Amino acid sequence: MATMITGECINCGACEPECPNNAISQGEEIYVIDPLLCTECVGFHDYEACAAVCPVDCCVTDPNNIETEEVLITRTRSLHQDVDIGENFESRFHEGTEKPAAAKPPTQKAEAARPGAPTTPPPGPPPQPQPARAVAEVEEPAPAFVELPDIDSWEIPIHCFKCGESYTSHPKHFMIGNVLWCPYCHKSMVVKDNLNFQVRTALREFYDKWERELVQFQTRREKELIEFRAKREKALQGFLAQQKRDLQAIKNRLQSISESYDAPGRPARKRSLLGWG
Ligand code: SF4
Ligand code: SF4
Repeated sequence: MATMITGECINCGACEPECPNNAISQGEEIYVIDPLLCTECVGFHDYEACAAVCPVDCCVTDPNNIETEEVLITRTRSLHQDVDIGENFESRFHEGTEKPAAAKPPTQKAEAARPGAPTTPPPGPPPQPQPARAVAEVEEPAPAFVELPDIDSWEIPIHCFKCGESYTSHPKHFMIGNVLWCPYCHKSMVVKDNLNFQVRTALREFYDKWERELVQFQTRREKELIEFRAKREKALQGFLAQQKRDLQAIKNRLQSISESYDAPGRPARKRSLLGWG
């Protein structure tokens, strides 16, 4: 199964640099994964690197694209022909088993850390979120719903059975016993119960349905907006938590580097002449 990104993506961009195959890119609305490049990280990790960093857990396996480990490792080898990926490669298919570290192409960071490598200037500040992504925060204008005219202002068409012409009259004239006159031939027509009933019932039913559906639609929109805001808030909290974890991890790492550094002149622990203690 290639990994895919669901619509819950918040466009944080954290996954893109983690992919060993450059399979992730910014799509029209959210980040997307090219299934022809995704190998589920087989050959490099025993987990999907994008899923590991995603703050909202929206990198998931694509149930419509089932692929075996054999297919995936073949793709990895084809994409990284310059890398010697042995037989004991890392893979999510044998997650948790003890394996030698997988061969990995040297990254820029690794290359820079290599002894004797030319020193490079320190990286600049991390990229800031693009303002365009805050567009969703802009207040939405109220929708301009179609308005209905007053129920009595409708022009009800009448077909004159004598001259064949058509003319109109307002609903209030459709009362039982009322007489309507054709403006062309002046033939009179008496409104009977069935015409009165049909015109008024059709209009009343239409107005009732219109108002009912409008209320339902507005209620649904309001509910969706509340859910959307809650989801965004949850995603934000997830992202903030991830940032805090990342910050703590780098602090711990720096602390560990500092403690293990064998500085020149550092007092060494004296050992016993007899070889113990
Ligand atoms: S699962 Fe691995 S290879 Fe696939 S997109 Fe995510 S990071 Fe890239
Ligand atoms: S890490 Fe997750 S939320 Fe962030 S861009 Fe990638 S898929 Fe989207």
